[in-house]
Amino acid sequence: MPDPYLDEWARYLKWVMAKAQQEKVATLKIGQVSRIAKGRDGWHLTMAGEDEPVTGDALVITGPGDVTGVKGQLNGDRISDAKHFWGHPLLHRLQRHRNDRITVAVIGAGGAAASVVLTLLRSMGERCAIQVISPWGVVYTRGESYDENRHLTDPQHWVHLGEPNQMRFLDHTSQGVFSQHVKRVMNTAVNVETVAGWVLEVQENPSRVRMLMKGSVAEDCDYAIVATGFDDMWWAKPDMLENQLIHEVRRCAGGAPVEAEFVRRHINDNLQLDQMSPPLHLPMLAGQRQGPGFPNLNCLGLLSDRILRPHCHIEESGKT
Ligand SMILES: Cc1cc2nc3c(=O)[nH]c(=O)nc-3n(C[C@H](O)[C@H](O)[C@H](O)COP(=O)(O)OP(=O)(O)OC[C@H]3O[C@@H](n4cnc5c(N)ncnc54)[C@H](O)[C@@H]3O)c2cc1C
Repeated sequence: MPDPYLDEWARYLKWVMAKAQQEKVATLKIGQVSRIAKGRDGWHLTMAGEDEPVTGDALVITGPGDVTGVKGQLNGDRISDAKHFWGHPLLHRLQRHRNDRITVAVIGAGGAAASVVLTLLRSMGERCAIQVISPWGVVYTRGESYDENRHLTDPQHWVHLGEPNQMRFLDHTSQGVFSQHVKRVMNTAVNVETVAGWVLEVQENPSRVRMLMKGSVAEDCDYAIVATGFDDMWWAKPDMLENQLIHEVRRCAGGAPVEAEFVRRHINDNLQLDQMSPPLHLPMLAGQRQGPGFPNLNCLGLLSDRILRPHCHIEESGKT
């Protein structure tokens, strides 16, 4: 079956939320969490602009966080990151130049960069040169056969693969790869080129963007979109978690630094951080140990089953 488009997904998710609210199994509270703390009775979330915290027996944190990897002001007149690009004025500004001879650099060669390139190819004319800058100088294609895709939707065999095979799989299907669809579109485009380079910093001036490169001279372009990956440890920062809680995350991650590569090894099959009480579910960090579909949209039903399972009383008949 072909993949659904993202706007179809959005409509589906809105339908799920409306149904859940109608059947009173979920409530939606719109607000910004500014601090996460925990007490004996559960989690306490401070909401920006509100006096009363939101409390709960378990906490699920989602979201890929901000773009990481490149220094500089990422959301100016000529630069955007891949998180803000979709609603950023830069996209409209670029469309005003759709027939001009300009150069747009897309920094990164993973899924977010692929979506940016596809959007640029749809919005801009052929005189706009699109440069995809990646450390490898090649944009690799995601493996998308049945044999690969099955692990994304059904991770039952994933845990038996062993770490080296899991890492090989993630390199091949998730990290630094474009989908075959985007590669097919790119193959027929005359205005996309892949450039080898590691961008350390972007600097904007009124007429250009300067990219400072690792081990080589700086490169210039007219506009740049930074799509170098997201910080999935965004929630474990001192402004969000109190110090003691950061230490506790560290203990649960086996005493290692509070960094994604260590925390990922300690996510159990409820997508929960090992030994953290009250429960803390981190599906975006569950890819390596539990299955590559959990940090994205590939097995959303299974993801919610795994998270809700320890909190629901299941009767013999299967009713909750
Ligand atoms: C360009 C692009 C294309 C993609 N294409 C695909 C695809 O084709 N297939 C696929 O499976 N995946 C795709 N992904 C990945 C997919 O979008 C993510 O895996 C998915 O959205 C993750 O869902 P999430 O709920 O964890 O995070 P998000 O969808 O990012 O939601 C996080 C939410 O939390 C909110 N938030 C952040 N901080 C706070 C706070 N302090 N308080 C309250 N709320 C807060 C944010 O505003 C946001 O609404 C794509 C991602 C990008 C960027």
